[in-house]
Amino acid sequence: MDWKALANRILDGGAPISREEALAVLKSSDDELLDVLQAAYLIRRNFFGKKVSLHVLKNAKSGICPEDCSFCSQSKSSTAAVEQYEMQSADEIVAGAKDAIDMQALRYCVVTSSRAPSESEMKTICDAAAKIKAQNPGLELCASMGFLTEEKARRLKEAGVDRFNHNLETSAKFYPSICSTHKHEDRVATARTVKKVGLDLCCGGLIGMGESLEDRVDLGMMLKELDTDSAPINFLDPRPGTGMEGRERLTPNDCLRTLCMFRFILTHAEVRIAGGRETCLRDLQPLSLYPANSMFTNGYLTTGGQDFAADKQMIEDAGFEIGHLVNA
Ligand code: SF4
Repeated sequence: MDWKALANRILDGGAPISREEALAVLKSSDDELLDVLQAAYLIRRNFFGKKVSLHVLKNAKSGICPEDCSFCSQSKSSTAAVEQYEMQSADEIVAGAKDAIDMQALRYCVVTSSRAPSESEMKTICDAAAKIKAQNPGLELCASMGFLTEEKARRLKEAGVDRFNHNLETSAKFYPSICSTHKHEDRVATARTVKKVGLDLCCGGLIGMGESLEDRVDLGMMLKELDTDSAPINFLDPRPGTGMEGRERLTPNDCLRTLCMFRFILTHAEVRIAGGRETCLRDLQPLSLYPANSMFTNGYLTTGGQDFAADKQMIEDAGFEIGHLVNA
């Protein structure tokens, strides 16, 4: 496959990448990897230049989810040793925004482990959102709180939330293998609701749970159909005490091929390197900046990660630059 020609065809307004071509990206050999990365970079550079947007997470309600997603250490079926606490106060959530700003984040992402936000959780997040936007108008705010009704989605938007995250995680076909308490179509419905009310949609997945390469292509194509604005791509870091305990991690090269596939499919969406970056990509982390234009910094919801100073150094050493400095 002429990878550069594929990228140029897409950039020139020709046919978008087909399922077969997306599968070919995932099946490409290690010898071709630098060519695939270079082609994905042509698309990334066209839409995002050399900018890397940083996102900082806040786990605002931890470890008490009634759902049974088998990869998740916060699920009801997990015995993983994670902190458990109810929804933090609006002031605690507001205080976290300052940390995000200190780490030059474009976006502050507030996450709760829940099936759907309760009325009191809605009130807390809306109060926090109004304060955060009043104090830091340059900071983008994302919420991730489970399933949304249209009415709740509208209230979040009115309160100042810019974006809502709700990952599909994997393909519709593979979804029953990882969760029994809700369906893939439920997740798709919330993603559509988010778009319907005019919130930005952040919708991605988790790779390496035993899904096939075709499942990864299905996920990419579904995210494109949903017109997601942002796609966080997580790599399974199997946690002790979860249903995925003991599963082998993806190789760094497979992670890179996967990021390239998402870049080819989701040409102008943010592709974010998310959980599992450090443990799966290891020393090849800097190469992920060629297809991806965004990353979480300073750790994840229940696990630590590379800190901001090391991420900043990595970005600069690789010749990229942090995309947005917040004036707040
Ligand atoms: S719904 Fe979210 S927080 Fe709850 S178990 Fe699934 S992935 Fe974890």
